[in-house]
Amino acid sequence: MRKKVKTIINLILIIIVIVIGWSYYSTYNFSDYTKAEYNRGYTKFSRDKEVTYNQGSSSYKIENIDYNDAMFYKTVPVQPDMVYKVTCKVKTENVEVKEPNKDAGAHISINNTVEKSNNVVGTTDDWQELEFYFNSRNRTEVELGFRLGGYDSNCKGTAWFTDFTLESGIPNTDKNWKFLCLLMDSLDVTVEKEGRETPYKIAMTEQNKSDIIQAINQFSNSMQILSEGKMTASCDIFEVTEPITSLSYDTENGYYVAPSNMESILKQYDTLEKEYDHIFIVIQTGNNEQGDLIPVNNWIGLGGMEYRGKGFSNIRVPSKDNNYFYRYIEGLNTFPQEVLVHEFLHTLERNAQLYGYEIPALHDYEQYGYQEDKQEGQKAWYIDYMNCQIKTGQGYIGLPAEIYTKKPVHASDFQYTINMDDLKEPDNIFEELNNLWNKIIQMFSGSKQMTNTVKEVGT
Ligand SMILES: [Zn+2]
Repeated sequence: MRKKVKTIINLILIIIVIVIGWSYYSTYNFSDYTKAEYNRGYTKFSRDKEVTYNQGSSSYKIENIDYNDAMFYKTVPVQPDMVYKVTCKVKTENVEVKEPNKDAGAHISINNTVEKSNNVVGTTDDWQELEFYFNSRNRTEVELGFRLGGYDSNCKGTAWFTDFTLESGIPNTDKNWKFLCLLMDSLDVTVEKEGRETPYKIAMTEQNKSDIIQAINQFSNSMQILSEGKMTASCDIFEVTEPITSLSYDTENGYYVAPSNMESILKQYDTLEKEYDHIFIVIQTGNNEQGDLIPVNNWIGLGGMEYRGKGFSNIRVPSKDNNYFYRYIEGLNTFPQEVLVHEFLHTLERNAQLYGYEIPALHDYEQYGYQEDKQEGQKAWYIDYMNCQIKTGQGYIGLPAEIYTKKPVHASDFQYTINMDDLKEPDNIFEELNNLWNKIIQMFSGSKQMTNTVKEVGT
């Protein structure tokens, strides 16, 4: 009799342990995802059965108690040179970005890169759909992550993620590059000059506009010739009347326009359907007659930046109308598109490096015996750089010919897609129990230290 009671008590105890264990497991198990945060201990990761998109499933919740960059990610195998689309549903509550005009919020990204989707911030009444497109380049796997924060700034607040999908498409490998050229009519900004916050209202002159339009047309016409047929360029030029109201700053370059300074404007012009491959932002930063000059460290072009997988460059027009920098004048300036060529080549340089090619640095022309020409600038260097014709003791070097076919992701790449299972959630208890041990280990291993990815900006 006493033995029987003992057995029953033991059984009840086991059931209690299983129930508590299961409830703990369903709240804290993050499936195969690794949790990571920049400031350890500022973030709570949990599963939520209440706030969820589909009844019966539980969402993944990131709660940043203080400003932090936190994510959960999974290593997903990918095929090199392939385009991918990731989607999820996201809901946010009181998500605040630490600094204004930064590329941060709740989003999808690849760990340790600046490749990411748009952000969701604030409080959403309903679930939002997030889409993230990327090219695998030479990678065979990527760490796909769902993130609250960003490489650019930290966030606080709560984000719920669910309904993850991953599909592959067919990359467009034609050699026509489409350029979005935005002529920013004016800047209306307050920046620090000599230690004081100073307001500036600067407008582009009609002469500025006609000069740069001429230079863009020269660029568009000449890229096929300069690349010896390896690429063509088509440029769409838009004049944007909405002013830019904030600028970014770093000590090396001074003030400049980062994509996050004009996100709402970019969203109007640069949709995936437009299929742009590169973005030029043309700005005026000073009016010489009035002595209004925003502190800029002598650059006329700034490149190497990335916006949603595309190259992003600043082109600055002169603050004096009588400057012939962007004007074609026989015997004086026969290569007025030079800055556009230079900044675009920084994007190809960066792409080639990301693909793992060994290439010379775009700024190293002197090292290979090239000189600046009075009329044509560094045209000879660019031609040899683009066509892998820079002579060295070990043979010819320069950009690899195939770099011209490796373009950003387009919407038309996803007309025919293949759905992949890598982000699929378990469908039933047996799938859920699959790799249970791994999930339990992940659950107790806490969060990993996140590294800081620095964005590149260069002249
Ligand atoms: Zn440069």
